[in-house]
Amino acid sequence: MDYLQTGQNSPAPRQRLCRKVIVVDATSYRSFADLQKHQVLGKDYDIVVCHRASSRVAVIAPHGGGIERRTSEIARAISGMDLNLYLFEGIKSSGNNYTALHLTSHRFDEPSCLDLIAQCLFVVSVHGCNGNDKKVLLGGLDLALKAQLAEALAHVGVAVETDGHAFPATDRNNICNRGRSRKGVQLEITGSLRGSPEENRVVSAVRSVLLGLDASA
Ligand SMILES: [Zn+2]
Repeated sequence: MDYLQTGQNSPAPRQRLCRKVIVVDATSYRSFADLQKHQVLGKDYDIVVCHRASSRVAVIAPHGGGIERRTSEIARAISGMDLNLYLFEGIKSSGNNYTALHLTSHRFDEPSCLDLIAQCLFVVSVHGCNGNDKKVLLGGLDLALKAQLAEALAHVGVAVETDGHAFPATDRNNICNRGRSRKGVQLEITGSLRGSPEENRVVSAVRSVLLGLDASA
């Protein structure tokens, strides 16, 4: 965890001993530029971009690594070697990756992610939420793809919610909605589903729908 010290105007030595220490919290970041002022590439976070020129689909995990457990692994598995992939990964060895690095989705504007998805008609973001029920909460503005994914997940026995939950992802600035078509899909996967035997079913169902989009191009 990083610390931002206050009182930078050359305080007297006695005051220096009393300086307040403020824990930098990602909820204060308005953009990636803010995060970048406090966090270090290669030490606190990493960025992975895999371009697959023949694909119109991007799978992204903006809260990967230690930020939202297993979302990097799930996004990688969905993309395989075929689909574009973007990961923003918390790699802090100590402290709370989520608290320090969770740049919320409608403020997530890391430039290499924006560059990648600007070329992609279809964007699917992978997130992890709390929850003891094994389920996937679908959001985003691409209603057709959202319905297709919901059907595919239900078909393999995964519980899905498409509306009336806490993660609608309908903000136009949500990173899933900032691709070429200005609409995408957000997957929120509960903690109990991530890492369970059923996780593979989520991966294969989502992957087969996305491969179908490229096949029908
Ligand atoms: Zn997230």
